[in-house]
Amino acid sequence: MAVPKKRTSKARRDKRRATHKISAPRLNSCPRCHSPRLPHRVCPVCGTYAGREVISHEIAEQPAGGGSAGAEG
Ligand SMILES: [Zn+2]
Repeated sequence: MAVPKKRTSKARRDKRRATHKISAPRLNSCPRCHSPRLPHRVCPVCGTYAGREVISHEIAEQPAGGGSAGAEG
C-alpha cells in the first residue's frame, strides 16, 4: 500500500479544501409544464422525459423518494 512520503502542510491541505465549496444544482425548466427540473432527469411534476410520459399521473403526483420495495425474509 502506498504511503505518503511527506506530511501535507496545513496550508496545502486548506488550499485544497478551499475548492470544496458546495454549489446549488443547475435547474432547467421542463419543456411541458415549465417547472424547474434537474437536467437529464424525469420531471417530478408531470412525469415526462424527452417529450413522452414516463411516469403515470398517479405516481407522478407523489414525491419521488424512498421507494423501498425490499421485502426481505
Ligand atoms: Zn414537467
